[in-house]
Amino acid sequence: MSTSLIIIYKSLYKSFGPQHWWPARTKFEIIVGAILTQQTTWRNVEKAIRNLRKNRLLTIENLANAPLRKIEELVRPAGYYREKAKCLKNIATYLLKHYQGKLKELFKKDTKSLREELLNLRGIGKETADSILLYAGGKRIFVIDAYTKRIFLRLGLLPASDYDKIRMFFEDNLPRDVKIYEEFHALLVKLGKEFCKRKPLCSSCPLFKDELCRYSHCERSEAIS
Ligand code: SF4
Repeated sequence: MSTSLIIIYKSLYKSFGPQHWWPARTKFEIIVGAILTQQTTWRNVEKAIRNLRKNRLLTIENLANAPLRKIEELVRPAGYYREKAKCLKNIATYLLKHYQGKLKELFKKDTKSLREELLNLRGIGKETADSILLYAGGKRIFVIDAYTKRIFLRLGLLPASDYDKIRMFFEDNLPRDVKIYEEFHALLVKLGKEFCKRKPLCSSCPLFKDELCRYSHCERSEAIS
């Protein structure tokens, strides 16, 4: 299985190249982006982040001290803005209170206990926590999202439906390398957005071209005949 995962990774990397994830200027901006990206597109997140930046609210201290109404107004483009504004203010306040606003202190903790801590915060689910741990914290933890599930279901390789079982499947079968985790997740998002959509574009998909996906049997036979 580890061979399959690496072959898929290499095929995607060869086709798409490095994705330079997570697109952010600071670790705290990664945290903000990971919260804002829930249930929306990255384009909308970028608008909200731009608003926060213009208003100097992309620091822990400033965000913690900003009025909730102001944050709501600025993150409105990202949708679910009332809830997201509360989550942002809450995590900033938490980081200020428990870590004096120093992310270095936060990420000194071991992955397991830090993950539990993040999951106890308002609005932080497993995908968000793992994105923060991997991309902001440099922790070796694989991020599972809807694209990953869909792609691996179609590949016939999805081991379970449970988030943590899927995560373990990747972690058990990939080299223990944070850089590969970061890149692989980003490559899967690109594949999911551009080819493995609800209605997949199999004939132009790199995994189809490299004969790694069997989901497209029908399309493949049409292409051959
Ligand atoms: S070949 Fe089709 S189903 Fe398979 S990964 Fe590509 S787009 Fe998805």
